[in-house]
Amino acid sequence: MVFGDGDPDAWLMFIGEAPGREEDQAGIPFIGRSGQLLRKMIAAIGLTPEDWYIANILKDRPPGNRVPEPEEIGFCIKFLHKQIEIIHPEIIVLLGKTAVKGLMPDRAAARVDDLRQESKSLNLRYNDIPIIVTYHPSALLRDPSKKVMAAQDFRFLEALQMEFKEAKALPL
Ligand code: URA
Repeated sequence: MVFGDGDPDAWLMFIGEAPGREEDQAGIPFIGRSGQLLRKMIAAIGLTPEDWYIANILKDRPPGNRVPEPEEIGFCIKFLHKQIEIIHPEIIVLLGKTAVKGLMPDRAAARVDDLRQESKSLNLRYNDIPIIVTYHPSALLRDPSKKVMAAQDFRFLEALQMEFKEAKALPL
């Protein structure tokens, strides 16, 4: 069972697909090859561990590491909804298609490439929280040509950082 990693007071919440074998063994999300890439990208835009929390749509590894079935997403999504309620981030980052299916089921048919662009308007929302869509890091490992676009998405997050960190720091 892999619930999440990071600061429960984070302003930024990343959501992936499901734990892999290494994550399942350690009980920590995103520590395998794709996780290391994600953590490097997060650090590269100056985010510190107080800034982020990472969770997945599924809390367990699907048999054979296959893509989660709709029923599995349907069963697990309530745990993620509760996590979002507790963390109450200022921004949610959806990493890839399964994360989109889980949190924006009405947009499940849209392409990640299109949602990336659309999300930069900050008009895609989950319960009023702006959603940014980008590639899953394993998609970047499979197709390194996508790294240029992912870097644009992370630069966008970097630009948002000041505004939302300050908002979170205000004693409102
Ligand atoms: N891929 C994911 O989507 N989540 C993890 O925790 C690890 C790999």
